[in-house]
Amino acid sequence: VSTDALAGELARVVGAAHVLQDPDLRAPYETDWTRRFHGTARLVVRPADARQVVEVVRRCAAHAAAIVPQGGNTGLVGGGVPRQGEVVLSLARLDDMGPVEGGQVTVGAGATLGAVQRHAADAGWEFGVDLAARDSATIGGMVATNAGGTQVIRHGTMRAQVLGVEAVLADGGVMRRLGGLVKDNTGYDLAGLLCGSEGTLGIVTRARLRLVPRLPHRVTVLLGAPDVAAAQRLLGAVRAAGVPLDAVEWFRSEGVRLVREHAGLGPPPCGEHPDYVLLEASDRTDPTEQLAEVLSGLPEAAHAAVAVDPPDRRALWAYRERHTEAINAVGVPHKLDVTLPAPVFAGAVTALPSVVSGVDPAAVTVLFGHLGDGNVHVNVLGPAADDERVDEAVLRHVAAAGGSISAEHGIGTAKARWLSLSRSEAEIAAMRAIKAALDPAGMLNPGVLLAP
Ligand SMILES: Cc1cc2nc3c(=O)[nH]c(=O)nc-3n(C[C@H](O)[C@H](O)[C@H](O)COP(=O)(O)OP(=O)(O)OC[C@H]3O[C@@H](n4cnc5c(N)ncnc54)[C@H](O)[C@@H]3O)c2cc1C
Repeated sequence: VSTDALAGELARVVGAAHVLQDPDLRAPYETDWTRRFHGTARLVVRPADARQVVEVVRRCAAHAAAIVPQGGNTGLVGGGVPRQGEVVLSLARLDDMGPVEGGQVTVGAGATLGAVQRHAADAGWEFGVDLAARDSATIGGMVATNAGGTQVIRHGTMRAQVLGVEAVLADGGVMRRLGGLVKDNTGYDLAGLLCGSEGTLGIVTRARLRLVPRLPHRVTVLLGAPDVAAAQRLLGAVRAAGVPLDAVEWFRSEGVRLVREHAGLGPPPCGEHPDYVLLEASDRTDPTEQLAEVLSGLPEAAHAAVAVDPPDRRALWAYRERHTEAINAVGVPHKLDVTLPAPVFAGAVTALPSVVSGVDPAAVTVLFGHLGDGNVHVNVLGPAADDERVDEAVLRHVAAAGGSISAEHGIGTAKARWLSLSRSEAEIAAMRAIKAALDPAGMLNPGVLLAP
Protein backbone atom coordinates (compact mmCIF):
# COMPACT_ATOMS: atom_id res chain seq x y z
CA VAL A 1 0.00 0.00 0.00
CA SER A 2 1.39 3.40 -1.03
CA THR A 3 2.29 5.85 1.71
CA ASP A 4 2.61 8.68 -0.84
CA ALA A 5 -0.49 10.85 -0.48
CA LEU A 6 0.10 12.36 -3.94
CA ALA A 7 0.08 8.86 -5.49
CA GLY A 8 -3.29 8.19 -3.91
CA GLU A 9 -4.74 11.43 -5.26
CA LEU A 10 -3.36 10.81 -8.73
CA ALA A 11 -4.72 7.26 -8.74
CA ARG A 12 -8.18 8.71 -8.23
CA VAL A 13 -7.65 10.89 -11.32
CA VAL A 14 -6.05 8.45 -13.77
CA GLY A 15 -6.75 5.03 -12.23
CA ALA A 16 -4.34 3.09 -10.02
CA ALA A 17 -2.95 1.14 -13.01
CA HIS A 18 -1.55 4.39 -14.41
CA VAL A 19 0.37 5.53 -11.34
CA LEU A 20 3.63 3.60 -11.33
CA GLN A 21 5.59 3.45 -8.10
CA ASP A 22 7.23 0.05 -8.37
CA PRO A 23 10.94 0.56 -9.28
CA ASP A 24 10.77 -2.06 -12.06
CA LEU A 25 7.77 -0.36 -13.66
CA ARG A 26 9.35 3.09 -13.32
CA ALA A 27 12.71 2.03 -14.72
CA PRO A 28 11.99 2.49 -18.49
CA TYR A 29 10.92 6.09 -17.77
CA GLU A 30 13.98 6.88 -15.66
CA THR A 31 16.79 6.30 -18.16
CA ASP A 32 17.18 8.05 -21.49
CA TRP A 33 17.70 6.43 -24.91
CA THR A 34 21.49 6.77 -24.74
CA ARG A 35 21.67 5.42 -21.13
CA ARG A 36 23.84 8.46 -20.29
CA PHE A 37 21.13 10.29 -18.34
CA HIS A 38 19.13 8.74 -15.53
CA GLY A 39 17.57 9.59 -12.21
CA THR A 40 14.81 8.52 -9.86
CA ALA A 41 11.16 9.43 -10.23
CA ARG A 42 8.87 9.85 -7.26
CA LEU A 43 6.31 8.12 -9.47
CA VAL A 44 5.21 7.92 -13.10
CA VAL A 45 1.71 9.09 -13.96
CA ARG A 46 0.00 8.32 -17.26
CA PRO A 47 -3.13 10.42 -17.84
CA ALA A 48 -5.50 9.55 -20.68
CA ASP A 49 -6.55 13.03 -21.83
CA ALA A 50 -6.00 16.76 -21.37
CA ARG A 51 -8.61 16.97 -18.61
CA GLN A 52 -6.66 14.42 -16.58
CA VAL A 53 -3.41 16.27 -17.31
CA VAL A 54 -4.96 19.41 -15.78
CA GLU A 55 -5.93 17.47 -12.63
CA VAL A 56 -2.49 15.87 -12.39
CA VAL A 57 -0.76 19.26 -12.69
CA ARG A 58 -3.03 20.82 -10.05
CA ARG A 59 -2.42 18.01 -7.59
CA CYS A 60 1.33 18.03 -8.18
CA ALA A 61 1.32 21.81 -7.61
CA ALA A 62 -0.55 21.38 -4.34
CA HIS A 63 2.15 18.94 -3.19
CA ALA A 64 4.98 21.11 -4.58
CA ALA A 65 6.00 18.14 -6.73
CA ALA A 66 8.01 19.07 -9.83
CA ILE A 67 7.01 17.46 -13.14
CA VAL A 68 9.09 16.04 -15.99
CA PRO A 69 6.90 15.68 -19.10
CA GLN A 70 7.81 12.66 -21.22
CA GLY A 71 6.72 11.47 -24.65
CA GLY A 72 8.59 8.66 -26.41
CA ASN A 73 11.77 9.14 -24.35
CA THR A 74 13.92 9.33 -27.50
CA GLY A 75 15.31 12.77 -26.63
CA LEU A 76 19.09 12.92 -26.63
CA VAL A 77 19.89 15.73 -24.15
CA GLY A 78 18.62 14.33 -20.85
CA GLY A 79 15.55 16.59 -20.74
CA GLY A 80 12.81 13.94 -20.48
CA VAL A 81 14.06 11.80 -17.60
CA PRO A 82 13.88 12.63 -13.89
CA ARG A 83 16.84 13.97 -12.00
CA GLN A 84 15.94 13.72 -8.32
CA GLY A 85 12.48 12.60 -7.35
CA GLU A 86 10.28 14.49 -9.83
CA VAL A 87 6.97 13.13 -11.08
CA VAL A 88 7.30 11.81 -14.63
CA LEU A 89 4.16 12.74 -16.55
CA SER A 90 3.91 10.44 -19.57
CA LEU A 91 1.82 11.77 -22.46
CA ALA A 92 1.95 8.45 -24.34
CA ARG A 93 -1.75 7.67 -23.88
CA LEU A 94 -2.86 10.94 -25.52
CA ASP A 95 -2.50 9.41 -28.97
CA ASP A 96 -5.79 10.32 -30.65
CA MET A 97 -5.75 11.59 -34.23
CA GLY A 98 -8.48 13.68 -35.81
CA PRO A 99 -9.55 13.64 -39.45
CA VAL A 100 -7.28 15.06 -42.15
CA GLU A 101 -9.05 18.13 -43.50
CA GLY A 102 -7.72 20.70 -45.94
CA GLY A 103 -4.14 19.54 -45.49
CA GLN A 104 -4.25 19.84 -41.71
CA VAL A 105 -4.77 17.45 -38.82
CA THR A 106 -5.11 17.71 -35.04
CA VAL A 107 -3.31 14.97 -33.11
CA GLY A 108 -2.73 14.09 -29.48
CA ALA A 109 0.70 14.78 -27.97
CA GLY A 110 1.33 11.07 -27.53
CA ALA A 111 0.77 10.11 -31.17
CA THR A 112 4.04 8.84 -32.61
CA LEU A 113 5.54 10.44 -35.67
CA GLY A 114 5.15 7.13 -37.51
CA ALA A 115 1.43 6.96 -36.70
CA VAL A 116 0.92 10.54 -37.93
CA GLN A 117 2.86 9.77 -41.13
CA ARG A 118 0.65 6.74 -41.84
CA HIS A 119 -2.52 8.67 -40.98
CA ALA A 120 -1.52 11.47 -43.37
CA ALA A 121 -0.55 9.03 -46.12
CA ASP A 122 -3.93 7.27 -45.87
CA ALA A 123 -5.52 10.62 -46.74
CA GLY A 124 -3.08 11.34 -49.59
CA TRP A 125 -0.82 13.74 -47.68
CA GLU A 126 2.57 13.66 -45.96
CA PHE A 127 3.93 15.12 -42.76
CA GLY A 128 6.90 17.44 -43.39
CA VAL A 129 9.20 16.15 -40.62
CA ASP A 130 10.93 12.78 -40.61
CA LEU A 131 13.51 11.24 -38.31
CA ALA A 132 14.84 7.77 -37.54
CA ALA A 133 13.11 7.51 -34.13
CA ARG A 134 9.73 7.83 -35.91
CA ASP A 135 8.13 4.80 -34.28
CA SER A 136 8.76 6.06 -30.72
CA ALA A 137 9.14 9.87 -30.86
CA THR A 138 5.85 11.63 -30.15
CA ILE A 139 4.36 14.81 -31.56
CA GLY A 140 4.38 16.41 -28.09
CA GLY A 141 8.10 15.67 -27.68
CA MET A 142 8.79 16.90 -31.20
CA VAL A 143 6.97 20.18 -30.51
CA ALA A 144 8.79 20.53 -27.19
CA THR A 145 12.21 20.00 -28.81
CA ASN A 146 11.35 21.73 -32.10
CA ALA A 147 12.63 18.57 -33.79
CA GLY A 148 14.47 18.86 -37.07
CA GLY A 149 15.27 15.63 -38.88
CA THR A 150 16.06 14.87 -42.48
CA GLN A 151 13.59 17.10 -44.34
CA VAL A 152 14.33 20.52 -42.83
CA ILE A 153 15.96 21.59 -46.09
CA ARG A 154 12.52 21.27 -47.73
CA HIS A 155 9.87 21.88 -45.10
CA GLY A 156 11.60 23.52 -42.13
CA THR A 157 11.67 22.30 -38.52
CA MET A 158 8.74 21.19 -36.40
CA ARG A 159 7.87 24.82 -35.62
CA ALA A 160 7.03 25.38 -39.30
CA GLN A 161 4.46 22.55 -39.22
CA VAL A 162 2.68 23.66 -36.03
CA LEU A 163 -0.40 25.81 -36.64
CA GLY A 164 -1.55 25.68 -33.04
CA VAL A 165 -1.34 23.76 -29.79
CA GLU A 166 -3.34 22.85 -26.75
CA ALA A 167 -1.16 22.97 -23.64
CA VAL A 168 -1.63 22.75 -19.89
CA LEU A 169 0.27 25.45 -18.01
CA ALA A 170 1.92 25.16 -14.60
CA ASP A 171 -1.15 26.58 -12.82
CA GLY A 172 -3.46 24.07 -14.49
CA GLY A 173 -4.76 26.62 -17.01
CA VAL A 174 -5.32 25.39 -20.56
CA MET A 175 -4.12 27.27 -23.62
CA ARG A 176 -5.99 26.02 -26.67
CA ARG A 177 -5.60 27.25 -30.23
CA LEU A 178 -6.44 24.47 -32.65
CA GLY A 179 -8.51 26.30 -35.27
CA GLY A 180 -5.82 25.88 -37.91
CA LEU A 181 -5.80 29.51 -39.04
CA VAL A 182 -2.87 30.00 -41.39
CA LYS A 183 -2.85 33.75 -40.76
CA ASP A 184 -3.46 34.90 -37.21
CA ASN A 185 -1.62 38.02 -36.05
CA THR A 186 -3.38 38.54 -32.76
CA GLY A 187 -0.40 39.00 -30.50
CA TYR A 188 2.34 36.72 -29.27
CA ASP A 189 2.86 33.43 -31.11
CA LEU A 190 2.35 31.23 -28.06
CA ALA A 191 2.39 27.96 -30.02
CA GLY A 192 5.70 29.05 -31.54
CA LEU A 193 6.99 29.82 -28.04
CA LEU A 194 6.18 26.29 -26.90
CA CYS A 195 8.14 24.89 -29.86
CA GLY A 196 11.61 24.31 -28.43
CA SER A 197 10.57 25.09 -24.85
CA GLU A 198 11.52 21.53 -23.80
CA GLY A 199 8.70 21.05 -21.33
CA THR A 200 9.68 24.09 -19.26
CA LEU A 201 6.70 26.36 -20.10
CA GLY A 202 3.73 24.05 -20.58
CA ILE A 203 2.66 20.50 -21.24
CA VAL A 204 1.58 20.02 -24.84
CA THR A 205 -1.55 17.86 -25.03
CA ARG A 206 -2.56 18.33 -28.69
CA ALA A 207 -1.19 19.98 -31.81
CA ARG A 208 -2.72 21.23 -35.04
CA LEU A 209 -0.32 20.29 -37.82
CA ARG A 210 0.14 21.42 -41.39
CA LEU A 211 0.61 18.59 -43.91
CA VAL A 212 2.44 18.72 -47.23
CA PRO A 213 1.41 17.31 -50.62
CA ARG A 214 2.41 13.73 -51.33
CA LEU A 215 4.63 13.85 -54.41
CA PRO A 216 4.53 10.75 -56.61
CA HIS A 217 8.17 10.61 -57.77
CA ARG A 218 11.09 10.23 -55.41
CA VAL A 219 14.74 9.36 -56.00
CA THR A 220 17.55 8.62 -53.54
CA VAL A 221 21.23 8.80 -54.46
CA LEU A 222 24.25 7.71 -52.41
CA LEU A 223 27.65 9.06 -53.41
CA GLY A 224 31.16 8.90 -52.04
CA ALA A 225 33.33 11.99 -51.52
CA PRO A 226 37.05 12.37 -50.69
CA ASP A 227 36.47 14.83 -47.83
CA VAL A 228 34.03 17.18 -46.10
CA ALA A 229 34.82 20.07 -48.44
CA ALA A 230 33.94 17.94 -51.49
CA ALA A 231 30.69 16.86 -49.83
CA GLN A 232 29.83 20.50 -49.24
CA ARG A 233 30.66 21.44 -52.86
CA LEU A 234 28.33 18.69 -54.01
CA LEU A 235 25.53 20.11 -51.88
CA GLY A 236 26.16 23.57 -53.33
CA ALA A 237 25.96 22.31 -56.91
CA VAL A 238 22.73 20.38 -56.40
CA ARG A 239 21.12 23.23 -54.51
CA ALA A 240 22.10 25.88 -57.05
CA ALA A 241 20.59 23.81 -59.85
CA GLY A 242 17.19 23.97 -58.17
CA VAL A 243 16.80 20.21 -57.67
CA PRO A 244 13.66 19.69 -55.50
CA LEU A 245 15.65 18.30 -52.59
CA ASP A 246 14.02 16.65 -49.56
CA ALA A 247 17.21 15.62 -47.78
CA VAL A 248 20.98 15.99 -47.97
CA GLU A 249 22.65 13.77 -45.38
CA TRP A 250 26.33 13.19 -44.69
CA PHE A 251 28.34 10.48 -42.91
CA ARG A 252 31.85 9.06 -42.88
CA SER A 253 33.72 5.78 -43.20
CA GLU A 254 34.05 5.25 -39.41
CA GLY A 255 30.27 5.44 -39.01
CA VAL A 256 29.71 3.11 -41.96
CA ARG A 257 32.03 0.57 -40.36
CA LEU A 258 29.96 0.62 -37.12
CA VAL A 259 26.66 0.42 -39.04
CA ARG A 260 27.90 -2.53 -41.10
CA GLU A 261 29.06 -4.40 -37.99
CA HIS A 262 25.85 -3.66 -36.11
CA ALA A 263 23.32 -4.19 -38.90
CA GLY A 264 25.21 -6.79 -40.93
CA LEU A 265 25.15 -4.67 -44.08
CA GLY A 266 27.47 -5.15 -47.08
CA PRO A 267 29.70 -2.40 -48.42
CA PRO A 268 27.87 0.71 -49.66
CA PRO A 269 26.82 0.22 -53.30
CA CYS A 270 28.66 3.43 -54.28
CA GLY A 271 31.97 1.86 -53.12
CA GLU A 272 34.02 2.72 -50.05
CA HIS A 273 35.02 6.36 -49.50
CA PRO A 274 36.17 8.64 -46.67
CA ASP A 275 32.88 10.60 -46.80
CA TYR A 276 29.37 9.90 -48.11
CA VAL A 277 26.48 12.10 -49.20
CA LEU A 278 22.92 10.84 -49.43
CA LEU A 279 20.56 12.96 -51.53
CA GLU A 280 16.83 12.61 -51.85
CA ALA A 281 14.57 14.58 -54.20
CA SER A 282 10.86 14.36 -54.97
CA ASP A 283 8.52 16.06 -57.40
CA ARG A 284 5.33 15.73 -59.48
CA THR A 285 7.49 14.49 -62.35
CA ASP A 286 10.51 12.21 -61.96
CA PRO A 287 13.49 14.34 -60.74
CA THR A 288 16.03 11.58 -61.54
CA GLU A 289 17.10 13.02 -64.87
CA GLN A 290 17.55 16.55 -63.51
CA LEU A 291 19.64 15.19 -60.64
CA ALA A 292 21.70 13.01 -62.99
CA GLU A 293 22.40 16.01 -65.21
CA VAL A 294 23.67 18.11 -62.29
CA LEU A 295 25.77 15.28 -60.90
CA SER A 296 27.24 14.28 -64.27
CA GLY A 297 29.70 17.18 -64.09
CA LEU A 298 31.05 16.07 -60.70
CA PRO A 299 33.80 13.45 -60.12
CA GLU A 300 31.87 12.05 -57.12
CA ALA A 301 29.05 10.91 -59.41
CA ALA A 302 31.15 8.20 -61.09
CA HIS A 303 30.04 5.50 -58.63
CA ALA A 304 26.71 6.92 -57.49
CA ALA A 305 24.06 4.43 -56.37
CA VAL A 306 20.57 5.48 -57.48
CA ALA A 307 17.30 4.08 -56.13
CA VAL A 308 13.66 4.88 -56.88
CA ASP A 309 11.74 1.86 -55.53
CA PRO A 310 10.93 2.11 -51.81
CA PRO A 311 12.88 -1.04 -50.74
CA ASP A 312 15.96 0.07 -52.70
CA ARG A 313 15.71 3.58 -51.27
CA ARG A 314 15.37 2.19 -47.75
CA ALA A 315 18.51 0.07 -48.34
CA LEU A 316 20.51 3.24 -49.13
CA TRP A 317 19.00 5.11 -46.17
CA ALA A 318 19.99 2.27 -43.80
CA TYR A 319 23.65 3.36 -44.01
CA ARG A 320 22.64 6.77 -42.63
CA GLU A 321 19.65 6.02 -40.43
CA ARG A 322 21.24 3.18 -38.49
CA HIS A 323 24.14 5.31 -37.24
CA THR A 324 22.48 6.28 -33.93
CA GLU A 325 21.63 2.72 -32.89
CA ALA A 326 24.99 1.37 -34.14
CA ILE A 327 26.88 3.91 -32.01
CA ASN A 328 24.66 3.11 -29.01
CA ALA A 329 25.47 -0.58 -29.42
CA VAL A 330 29.20 0.13 -28.90
CA GLY A 331 28.88 2.15 -25.70
CA VAL A 332 27.24 5.10 -23.98
CA PRO A 333 27.90 8.03 -26.31
CA HIS A 334 28.32 11.71 -25.61
CA LYS A 335 26.04 13.20 -28.28
CA LEU A 336 26.74 16.79 -29.29
CA ASP A 337 24.39 18.10 -31.94
CA VAL A 338 25.68 21.34 -33.43
CA THR A 339 25.38 23.60 -36.49
CA LEU A 340 28.20 25.42 -38.19
CA PRO A 341 28.03 28.30 -40.67
CA ALA A 342 28.64 27.30 -44.29
CA PRO A 343 31.81 29.37 -44.89
CA VAL A 344 33.73 27.64 -42.07
CA PHE A 345 31.88 24.32 -42.13
CA ALA A 346 34.48 22.06 -43.76
CA GLY A 347 37.42 23.37 -41.72
CA ALA A 348 35.61 23.36 -38.39
CA VAL A 349 34.17 19.87 -38.94
CA THR A 350 37.47 18.41 -40.10
CA ALA A 351 39.10 19.72 -36.90
CA LEU A 352 36.52 18.09 -34.60
CA PRO A 353 38.27 14.70 -34.10
CA SER A 354 41.46 16.46 -33.02
CA VAL A 355 39.50 18.75 -30.67
CA VAL A 356 38.19 15.55 -29.02
CA SER A 357 41.51 13.70 -28.98
CA GLY A 358 43.21 16.81 -27.57
CA VAL A 359 41.11 16.25 -24.43
CA ASP A 360 40.86 12.46 -24.44
CA PRO A 361 43.33 10.71 -26.76
CA ALA A 362 41.53 7.37 -26.36
CA ALA A 363 38.08 8.71 -27.32
CA VAL A 364 36.48 7.66 -30.63
CA THR A 365 34.67 10.36 -32.61
CA VAL A 366 31.92 9.47 -35.07
CA LEU A 367 30.50 12.32 -37.15
CA PHE A 368 27.38 12.39 -39.29
CA GLY A 369 24.51 14.76 -39.84
CA HIS A 370 22.13 16.79 -41.90
CA LEU A 371 24.55 18.43 -44.34
CA GLY A 372 21.80 20.49 -45.96
CA ASP A 373 21.35 22.41 -42.69
CA GLY A 374 25.03 22.55 -41.66
CA ASN A 375 24.05 20.23 -38.78
CA VAL A 376 26.67 17.81 -37.45
CA HIS A 377 26.05 15.13 -34.85
CA VAL A 378 29.30 14.72 -32.92
CA ASN A 379 29.27 11.33 -31.18
CA VAL A 380 32.06 10.59 -28.77
CA LEU A 381 32.63 7.11 -27.33
CA GLY A 382 35.00 6.46 -24.48
CA PRO A 383 34.70 9.19 -21.82
CA ALA A 384 32.69 8.30 -18.70
CA ALA A 385 29.07 9.50 -18.76
CA ASP A 386 29.76 12.23 -16.20
CA ASP A 387 33.08 13.37 -17.69
CA GLU A 388 32.11 16.59 -19.48
CA ARG A 389 35.54 17.74 -20.66
CA VAL A 390 35.00 16.58 -24.25
CA ASP A 391 31.51 18.12 -24.35
CA GLU A 392 32.91 21.45 -23.24
CA ALA A 393 35.81 21.40 -25.73
CA VAL A 394 33.53 20.57 -28.68
CA LEU A 395 30.89 23.16 -27.74
CA ARG A 396 33.52 25.87 -27.27
CA HIS A 397 35.08 24.98 -30.63
CA VAL A 398 31.66 25.27 -32.31
CA ALA A 399 30.79 28.55 -30.60
CA ALA A 400 34.17 30.03 -31.52
CA ALA A 401 33.45 29.15 -35.16
CA GLY A 402 30.11 31.01 -35.01
CA GLY A 403 27.96 27.89 -34.75
CA SER A 404 25.14 26.85 -32.42
CA ILE A 405 25.66 24.40 -29.55
CA SER A 406 22.28 22.83 -30.32
CA ALA A 407 20.95 22.38 -33.83
CA GLU A 408 17.86 20.27 -33.23
CA HIS A 409 18.05 18.14 -30.07
CA GLY A 410 17.67 21.02 -27.62
CA ILE A 411 19.63 21.99 -24.52
CA GLY A 412 18.06 19.64 -21.95
CA THR A 413 20.19 19.09 -18.86
CA ALA A 414 23.14 18.04 -21.03
CA LYS A 415 24.01 21.52 -22.26
CA ALA A 416 22.26 23.88 -19.82
CA ARG A 417 25.52 25.05 -18.28
CA TRP A 418 26.84 26.12 -21.70
CA LEU A 419 23.76 27.98 -22.95
CA SER A 420 25.67 31.27 -22.77
CA LEU A 421 27.99 30.04 -25.53
CA SER A 422 25.10 30.43 -27.98
CA ARG A 423 22.80 32.96 -26.29
CA SER A 424 23.56 36.47 -25.03
CA GLU A 425 22.99 37.65 -21.47
CA ALA A 426 19.98 39.68 -22.64
CA GLU A 427 18.46 36.67 -24.41
CA ILE A 428 18.91 34.43 -21.38
CA ALA A 429 17.40 37.11 -19.13
CA ALA A 430 14.36 37.28 -21.44
CA MET A 431 14.01 33.48 -21.35
CA ARG A 432 14.21 33.49 -17.55
CA ALA A 433 11.56 36.22 -17.39
CA ILE A 434 9.20 34.15 -19.59
CA LYS A 435 9.83 31.07 -17.48
CA ALA A 436 9.18 33.00 -14.25
CA ALA A 437 5.94 34.46 -15.65
CA LEU A 438 4.51 31.13 -16.79
CA ASP A 439 5.94 28.86 -14.10
CA PRO A 440 6.81 30.99 -11.05
CA ALA A 441 7.24 28.01 -8.74
CA GLY A 442 9.56 26.20 -11.17
CA MET A 443 7.29 23.15 -11.38
CA LEU A 444 7.91 22.19 -15.00
CA ASN A 445 11.15 20.43 -15.90
CA PRO A 446 13.46 22.18 -13.41
CA GLY A 447 17.11 22.18 -14.50
CA VAL A 448 16.26 21.76 -18.18
CA LEU A 449 17.32 24.48 -20.64
CA LEU A 450 17.94 27.14 -17.94
CA ALA A 451 20.50 26.00 -15.37
CA PRO A 452 19.42 26.56 -11.76
C1 LIG B 1 17.48 7.03 -33.48
C2 LIG B 1 17.19 8.46 -33.17
C3 LIG B 1 17.20 9.40 -34.19
C4 LIG B 1 16.90 10.74 -33.93
N1 LIG B 1 16.93 11.61 -34.96
C5 LIG B 1 16.60 12.91 -34.73
C6 LIG B 1 16.62 13.85 -35.81
O1 LIG B 1 16.95 13.53 -36.94
N2 LIG B 1 16.23 15.12 -35.53
C7 LIG B 1 15.85 15.52 -34.26
O2 LIG B 1 15.50 16.68 -34.08
N3 LIG B 1 15.87 14.64 -33.24
C8 LIG B 1 16.22 13.36 -33.44
N4 LIG B 1 16.24 12.48 -32.39
C9 LIG B 1 15.91 12.95 -31.03
C10 LIG B 1 14.42 12.75 -30.63
O3 LIG B 1 13.80 11.76 -31.39
C11 LIG B 1 13.65 14.06 -30.74
O4 LIG B 1 14.21 14.99 -29.83
C12 LIG B 1 12.15 13.93 -30.45
O5 LIG B 1 11.55 15.16 -30.73
C13 LIG B 1 11.83 13.54 -29.02
O6 LIG B 1 10.49 13.14 -28.94
P1 LIG B 1 10.00 12.24 -27.69
O7 LIG B 1 8.53 12.07 -27.79
O8 LIG B 1 10.78 10.99 -27.62
O9 LIG B 1 10.35 13.21 -26.49
P2 LIG B 1 11.00 12.86 -25.06
O10 LIG B 1 12.36 12.28 -25.25
O11 LIG B 1 10.06 12.09 -24.26
O12 LIG B 1 11.15 14.34 -24.47
C14 LIG B 1 12.00 15.28 -25.07
C15 LIG B 1 11.82 16.64 -24.37
O13 LIG B 1 10.51 17.13 -24.62
C16 LIG B 1 9.77 17.25 -23.39
N5 LIG B 1 8.42 16.76 -23.70
C17 LIG B 1 8.07 15.54 -24.19
N6 LIG B 1 6.74 15.50 -24.41
C18 LIG B 1 6.25 16.70 -24.06
C19 LIG B 1 4.94 17.29 -24.06
N7 LIG B 1 3.87 16.62 -24.49
N8 LIG B 1 4.80 18.56 -23.61
C20 LIG B 1 5.87 19.26 -23.17
N9 LIG B 1 7.11 18.76 -23.14
C21 LIG B 1 7.31 17.50 -23.59
C22 LIG B 1 10.53 16.43 -22.38
O14 LIG B 1 10.36 16.91 -21.07
C23 LIG B 1 11.96 16.58 -22.87
O15 LIG B 1 12.50 17.81 -22.42
C24 LIG B 1 16.58 11.14 -32.62
C25 LIG B 1 16.55 10.19 -31.58
C26 LIG B 1 16.87 8.88 -31.84
C27 LIG B 1 16.84 7.90 -30.72
